[in-house]
Amino acid sequence: MAESKKRPAAGASGQKSPSENPESPLSSPDVLSREQMEQLSALQLVDMIVGKLPPRHSSIMDMIYLRDRVAEIEEVNDQARQTIEKMDAIIEKLRSPAFRVGTFLMPIEPDKAHVVVGGTDYVCRIDPQLPLASLQVGQRVLLNEAFAVVQGLGFERNGPIVRIDELLSGGRLRIGQESGMLTSVLLRSSLLAKEKLKPGMEVRLDANQRVALEVIGIGKRIERALETVNEIPWTSIGGQDEAVQAIRDTIELPFLHKALFKKFEHSVPKGFLLHGPPGCGKTLLGKATAFNLRQQIKAETGVDRPEFFLHVKGPEILNMWVGESERQVRDLFAQCRERAADGHLAFLFIDEAESILGTRRAGRYSSILSTVVPMFCTEMDGIEPLTNVVVIIASNRADLIDPAILRPGRIDRKIKVNRPNKEGAQRIYEIYLKDTLPLAEPREDLAKAITEAHYGHTPDNQFLEIVYRSGRKDFLYRGDLASGAIIAAIVERAKSLAIKRAIETKQDTSITREDLIIAMKKEYSENDLFPPTDITEDWLKLTDFDPDNVIRLGPIRPRKKDELGTGII
Ligand code: ADP
Repeated sequence: MAESKKRPAAGASGQKSPSENPESPLSSPDVLSREQMEQLSALQLVDMIVGKLPPRHSSIMDMIYLRDRVAEIEEVNDQARQTIEKMDAIIEKLRSPAFRVGTFLMPIEPDKAHVVVGGTDYVCRIDPQLPLASLQVGQRVLLNEAFAVVQGLGFERNGPIVRIDELLSGGRLRIGQESGMLTSVLLRSSLLAKEKLKPGMEVRLDANQRVALEVIGIGKRIERALETVNEIPWTSIGGQDEAVQAIRDTIELPFLHKALFKKFEHSVPKGFLLHGPPGCGKTLLGKATAFNLRQQIKAETGVDRPEFFLHVKGPEILNMWVGESERQVRDLFAQCRERAADGHLAFLFIDEAESILGTRRAGRYSSILSTVVPMFCTEMDGIEPLTNVVVIIASNRADLIDPAILRPGRIDRKIKVNRPNKEGAQRIYEIYLKDTLPLAEPREDLAKAITEAHYGHTPDNQFLEIVYRSGRKDFLYRGDLASGAIIAAIVERAKSLAIKRAIETKQDTSITREDLIIAMKKEYSENDLFPPTDITEDWLKLTDFDPDNVIRLGPIRPRKKDELGTGII
């Protein structure tokens, strides 16, 4: 302050002294009117008075002091005014209504945008200072009071998660009801424009639930094989007459004679368990059930209900994420129900079911099983027989399936799928040695010959050695471990032998019984259906022996040299 008082007065307020400004009213010596006086600042008035004093007047110094003080006051006033103006601007801002945040859906014209705010759609003007190209589908935008887009805000980082049901044209996505929302169609955000999306994937939505913003890493739907069911008439399955009859009674009859079942108030199963050794046709029977039921319904009612056959392997469902396995089970049923609602004959086929529906024994997966089994039971209880889903579970170890699953009202029909006996094996050989193939002799003769060779109790056919608890030893023969899968594979090998011969001899060839016998021996030494080890438990799984009665079961030792010289048989 003390310093500023010494400053020349004119500089302090930024106003020129009257002598510097000839235009000023102060430059005129005349008396000013009141209006003119009012236009002058205090400083100018002082200058005017000083200007009127005679030189060396005794008050000149006082007036100069007064001028400094007035200049100082005016400067303080000036600063105060600026501060008040700033405060006013701030108060004005704070009082103005909040901006709205919307989701940008698409541009409409160069200066308009389709925006959704709180579930309502708007066509908004875009602030000319905001380049339209800077806005991306799905991003948040700031809207002013007039709902004009004034700023882009980037993408939301949170929001609901839903599962994609179907990919539609134009990059749109259909989501199903199971997401807890109505079935609806979403847009893809610019972020997902090039992403390879698939049904079953989970995506996060914007707050307005109109745009899919991002794929969420875990929790993707199992990439499960939805197997197409080929033509599998019952006659293409050999040696399983009892199982086929049981399936037809369990599933076909109630579907085809609904009224009768209702009249007799006879319980209708929701599914069945197929149990038996691997490769004996459990999966084949499951698919054949779907195929034949469709045909039967079509023949009886004229209505063609396409089948939906969801084939899952139990271990695929096991997942280390807490709750994830349960979610997968729920999801499987949900998928089937959705398809059934669309008019499909929906089948849920769970292979290797003991791995996921096993007794809740202590073990690596016990905590998962303890939640999956009840979840599966709940889903089963929710099924309406005949109207929606048929559940087929298959297992090599039915003894391990949790009894809760097999209670009445759930999967209460158990159907055994045995290894084919000799007659069954011959029938399966006949199925695969089709008449249309080049065969060296009539199909039946060829099938009979290879079946005899396969099932004969000859030393050559001795395959496993078994030692009972009683100490008694015995042999299992190749035929005792035969399966439809092995027979199908033997015929395939025989075909390739015949083809090789045709190439070597450059002559027409056909499948001979020798081809089949060589193929059979090779199949038993190389087949990967058999365990690669000598561990008794592994081999016991392939048989019906009671483990308590057997001390050892395994390949015969020492292994005999293959008389064909192809290695070990
Ligand atoms: P599983 O499910 O019992 O392990 P699969 O049904 O997968 O056995 O059988 C494998 C393949 O073996 C079938 O696709 C089929 O080619 C053949 N197969 C098995 N059993 C039979 C059978 N009884 N009749 C005809 N082919 C069979």
